[in-house]
Amino acid sequence: MTSAVERIYDDVIRRNPSEPEFHQAVREVLDSLGAVLARHSEYADRKTVERICEPERQIIFRVPWQDDRGEVHINRGFRVEFNSALGPYKGGLRFHPSVNLGIVKFLGFEQVFKNALTGMPIGGGKGGSDFDPKGRSEAEVMRFCQSFMTELYRHLGEYTDVPAGDIGVGGREIGFLFGQYKRITNRYEAGVLTGKGLSYGGALVRTEATGYGAAFFAAEMLAVHGESLDGRTVSVSGAGNVAIYAVEKVQQLGGTVVTASDSGGYIVDEKGINLEVLKQVKEVERGRISDYADRVPSARYVAGGSVWDVPCDVAIPCASQNELPESAAVALVRNGCRIVVEGANMPTTPEAVTVLREGGVGFGPGKAANAGGVATSALEMQQNASRDRWSFEHTEARLHEIMRGIHARCHETAEEYGDPGNLVLGANVAGFLTVAEAVHAQGLV
Ligand code: NDP
Repeated sequence: MTSAVERIYDDVIRRNPSEPEFHQAVREVLDSLGAVLARHSEYADRKTVERICEPERQIIFRVPWQDDRGEVHINRGFRVEFNSALGPYKGGLRFHPSVNLGIVKFLGFEQVFKNALTGMPIGGGKGGSDFDPKGRSEAEVMRFCQSFMTELYRHLGEYTDVPAGDIGVGGREIGFLFGQYKRITNRYEAGVLTGKGLSYGGALVRTEATGYGAAFFAAEMLAVHGESLDGRTVSVSGAGNVAIYAVEKVQQLGGTVVTASDSGGYIVDEKGINLEVLKQVKEVERGRISDYADRVPSARYVAGGSVWDVPCDVAIPCASQNELPESAAVALVRNGCRIVVEGANMPTTPEAVTVLREGGVGFGPGKAANAGGVATSALEMQQNASRDRWSFEHTEARLHEIMRGIHARCHETAEEYGDPGNLVLGANVAGFLTVAEAVHAQGLV
């Protein structure tokens, strides 16, 4: 870090105490910006970086709701509208007990650059609640979503702020949220939420998009070395939306995915994950990953432990932030892993990234590799605005083209800035330059 950038970072820590994930996300971007600011003195003069590190608006609200027994619960809702230089705020909602302002800010900050990398006209934001949907009945989830939207609706709009899903928020929750928005506003504003069901304005491929996109990104990284996913052994963590569709696309591209996990443990299936059983267990029954091992004789379940101990050529972490620490990176290097591609947001700790890079493992950062989800959300917004519906093939082809474009931009920018193959540098610089140019052009706002 140059001293100017160091000062900006110190200021971010001082102004945002007790938010380690936000500090980590900011640090990772600032680490890449020294050479950029040396070339663009106008951004230093107008404090462009400092403005990008400060959310435009942060909303925190009470979410009261009653469970099935009539007991009252109070949760906290968040929406951080980070940056609207490129378009309406866009980014998912996360329902998980760990959600706090710092986590939402880290996610919102990452989202700004990710959305810029897609080349689509979308700004960055993120939101959620510390509500834990696990073990809750459908009626309880619906009541919670309705209470959450009863406050959030006033901040949304297809030209203002367009949320989507994230951890704990899938198609079911988006349906409840959309219904309540429509009821309160009396407007059928289809483009106000993405990840909707296909019967009411959702886009084909949105469900698959983040996982498919991460697999496409992995294929692009291997293609630089004249390689492919065909015949590769792949480890995936998580067993949610991103993980399931990363497994599906890797398998379609000829790879063998041997792992999946949840917060209880992981499964290893050397024959390759049986996707039908995985979807049944996690999407239909909302069960645990251990249930997979109960049904598939070739699989074994490991309670606790690290999924990254399983030897693989390609690792795709798709669960949560900081799930791949230094010790896991050491194991991956030792076992001959070729590339790590982040399906989740910031799953790899900074220490682990260093170990991977020093060990010669290619690294695809989440803000590039998992941008397929939000890119396809922008395609959903396009279809809603034009009252159109595209085919699966057409939408997937657009997604594939966007992921190729993101990889190419990151790759070329890393070369231009003197560190070929460093996709962290490439993603941060390319994303920053796009946002900074728009922020600068719009004056001091
Ligand atoms: P889901 O809620 O569908 O799934 C999350 C999965 O990860 C669950 O299987 C969960 O297990 C598991 N998990 C969570 N925390 C841990 C942990 N500490 N260790 C092991 N497993 C864990 O979420 P998504 O698949 O939508 O999101 C996953 C990641 O991808 C997040 O980082 C999210 O921000 C990111 N992402 C998602 C996008 C999307 O379109 N959905 C877009 C871009 C990024 P359990 O059920 O036990 O909690």
